[in-house]
Amino acid sequence: MTSPNPLGHIAVIGGGISGVVLALALLRRNITVTIYEQASHFGEIGAGVAFNPAATRAMSLCSPAIYAAFEKVATRNQSPDKARVWFDWLDGMADVPVGQEPCVFRLENEFGANAVHRAHFLDEMVKLVPDGVTKFGKHVDTIIPLDGSEKLELRFHDGSTATADAVVGCDGIKSRVRAWMLGGDDVPGAAPVYTHKYAYRGLIPMSRAKAALGEELAQNAKMHMGQDGHVLTFPVDHGKTMNVVAFHTNAREWPSTTKLTLPSEKAHVYEDFKGFGPTVTKIIDMLEPQLDCWAIFDTGDSPLERYNKGRVCVLGDAAHATSPHHGAGAGMCIEDAAVMAELLADERVAKAGKRGIEAAFQTFSDVRKERSQWLVQSSRRSGDLYEWRAEGVGKDFGKIEQECRERDDKLWNAQVGDMVEEAKEQLGKVLSTGQ
Ligand SMILES: Cc1cc2nc3c(=O)[nH]c(=O)nc-3n(C[C@H](O)[C@H](O)[C@H](O)COP(=O)(O)OP(=O)(O)OC[C@H]3O[C@@H](n4cnc5c(N)ncnc54)[C@H](O)[C@@H]3O)c2cc1C
Repeated sequence: MTSPNPLGHIAVIGGGISGVVLALALLRRNITVTIYEQASHFGEIGAGVAFNPAATRAMSLCSPAIYAAFEKVATRNQSPDKARVWFDWLDGMADVPVGQEPCVFRLENEFGANAVHRAHFLDEMVKLVPDGVTKFGKHVDTIIPLDGSEKLELRFHDGSTATADAVVGCDGIKSRVRAWMLGGDDVPGAAPVYTHKYAYRGLIPMSRAKAALGEELAQNAKMHMGQDGHVLTFPVDHGKTMNVVAFHTNAREWPSTTKLTLPSEKAHVYEDFKGFGPTVTKIIDMLEPQLDCWAIFDTGDSPLERYNKGRVCVLGDAAHATSPHHGAGAGMCIEDAAVMAELLADERVAKAGKRGIEAAFQTFSDVRKERSQWLVQSSRRSGDLYEWRAEGVGKDFGKIEQECRERDDKLWNAQVGDMVEEAKEQLGKVLSTGQ
């Protein structure tokens, strides 16, 4: 594909939420892009994902069409008086009848719980990607800067190659682009690390969930806290389905070196949540007898020093994969995409040509690293807060509430417009000083 755009042709590696949102945001700004996706088609797992207010604002900046796609599939709390509630945090170990767990605290924001079924959200966004933009079955093995030209060559696992003027790795937690930037698979930071938490997931038809738990509990976002485990539920599919994620922590190593998901069975879930109260047991009763267990990995132990190297950059989970305890990993990907798109579309970048892309990537790293790496660490801490494991806090509900409130405020109150303004100011400095 050729382009009149002076930036040339940008290769986006990976067609998950990051890659698709970034590509749409760039196309909207008339920047030519190809997505290289290893799978044979777009696909997301059938689980729920929530978006906080900072993320939804970033969607609109990327493209109003992305926000419209989100609105089409977004599901909020179903009870009108819970419209602003993000989650109710409950004492999941209280030995009280089903539905009567005490509410320890509640966090609210302007939009409340804002969840989508992942696959449905991706499907809606994919409809916006023009034909020919995505090449499927293209697993990037490595990137080679071509001698004598300013092009980068992508080498794919199937033996084929492609060239690009710049590469953005949106290839997720096991990113090849991140490993390439670091100089190998064995370099610290190249591989994600196990957080010693894992999760069982389920999607329960809402009629069944309501019958078992009662309407209020089934139809609104709830976090059942407990010792070494927590179970969260929220409605997806416009209230037709209740999404369940049951997290547990232990000291054992994850049994696979290659797979982040392993088959499991309900008996293990009961075992992990043995001391929990009747409500949590009732939720487990509704899970499938055979289900998958998801290891929770992140990139928190050896963060990348920089997200850029020349005209190659990483974005989304490839740069900062986080555990999911803030419900903000995908949201951070969308913030990234908004800032990256605005930087690459800046006319100073276009004027500076290839050097402009390098400056944009360097600026992206300068302005995005602190917040996104904070998320990785804060998410680990939050997971421990919900499981009464956080140092200096334990089961002190007052302290848990205070920390959760402060951490979520920092996440939610960020304004994407301010992020972009800061990025543009930094871009000016990078372009003028070469720093
Ligand atoms: C249990 C759980 C719950 C979560 N809940 C939330 C939530 O409520 N809210 C929230 O905001 N976030 C949540 N997250 C985080 C969120 O899922 C991720 O941050 C987000 O999906 C990452 O998107 P991505 O596109 O960066 O990466 P991915 O979704 O991993 O996509 C990467 C894409 O790249 C492709 N790819 C990989 N390698 C290559 C290669 N070498 N060549 C070509 N293509 C390649 C893959 O096939 C894939 O399509 C949760 C995560 C987990 C594990």
